[in-house]
Amino acid sequence: MDGRSDRGAAGGCGSVREDLGANVIGALEPEENEQIGAHLAICPGCRAEHDELAKVARLLSELLPVTRVDRHPGWPSRAPSSRKPPQP
Ligand SMILES: [Zn+2]
Repeated sequence: MDGRSDRGAAGGCGSVREDLGANVIGALEPEENEQIGAHLAICPGCRAEHDELAKVARLLSELLPVTRVDRHPGWPSRAPSSRKPPQP
């Protein structure tokens, strides 16, 4: 941590770090992932940050299996109270 790697890196670290969280959970566009990948290749600081986030994301996905709704197609997409079943 000498602070030098945070200055002058191509693209800048700020926007990359903002997107790292979305990157590790696969929520970014492919071209955004490419930009981040290119930055991580030249920036050890962001790479370390990315590794930490990836670790946390993996832990969270194990602790909270319901991180992606589309993995549970059987779940109702509306709140149960908004649609009552017809009563005889
Ligand atoms: Zn960086």
